[in-house]
Amino acid sequence: MVNVAAWQSLTAELQAKGVTLIAVSKTKPASDIQEMYALGQRDFGENYVQELVDKHAQLPQDIRWHYIGHLQSNKVKYIAPFVHLIHAVDSFNLLKEINKQAAKNNRTIKVLLQMHIADEETKFGMNNTELVEFLSYYESQQAELQHVQICGVMGMASFTDDEVKIKREFAQLKNIFDNLLHSAFLLKDSFNSISMGMSSDYKIAIEEGSTMVRIGSMLFGERQYNNPK
Ligand SMILES: *Cc1c(COP(=O)(O)O)cnc(C)c1O
Repeated sequence: MVNVAAWQSLTAELQAKGVTLIAVSKTKPASDIQEMYALGQRDFGENYVQELVDKHAQLPQDIRWHYIGHLQSNKVKYIAPFVHLIHAVDSFNLLKEINKQAAKNNRTIKVLLQMHIADEETKFGMNNTELVEFLSYYESQQAELQHVQICGVMGMASFTDDEVKIKREFAQLKNIFDNLLHSAFLLKDSFNSISMGMSSDYKIAIEEGSTMVRIGSMLFGERQYNNPK
């Protein structure tokens, strides 16, 4: 069920700040997406490949689909024909595969680099050492990577009530973004996105410089993982 009032107030709040709302519809039925689409929402986020492929086939073609979850290289081909932005690139091999599949589809796919900013082991993303390694590969092979465009960074803060900690982690991501902005080989005009903030912490994320928030449960209600879709 879509919370229309929550969507309206959130949209007004974010528009005033120039922040993009990605409505995270994972596990929710296509009918919920259709309902929010009718309100004017166009950016939706999913993190299961098969579910995204099914929903893309059923729903309006002008939806901008964001893939926000961990992506396995062997599944890139299924979403490459239509995905708008892949948020969670955390290895050079994955970037190369996205480039290859984008080329096959005659497109350029936009991606974000996922950074590990939480102190939890379970969260995906690169640490600083891995980022340096990634960038050196990217710089040396950039000529062959014409079908991907690195547009910014993405990260998830720790699951905690400690707002000081969350703030620190988001500030860390903003700092990484600012440092990357000065890398000569990243195209500056398209490197402009910081994807951070979810239902519980988006206000802090915006204070720390987020340009896109990924919000699910606040808009669609709690998810039930034992009975998906
Ligand atoms: C599910 C998910 C979200 C949305 O979380 P909510 O707490 O429901 O707002 C945001 N980002 C990612 C990567 C997710 O997997």
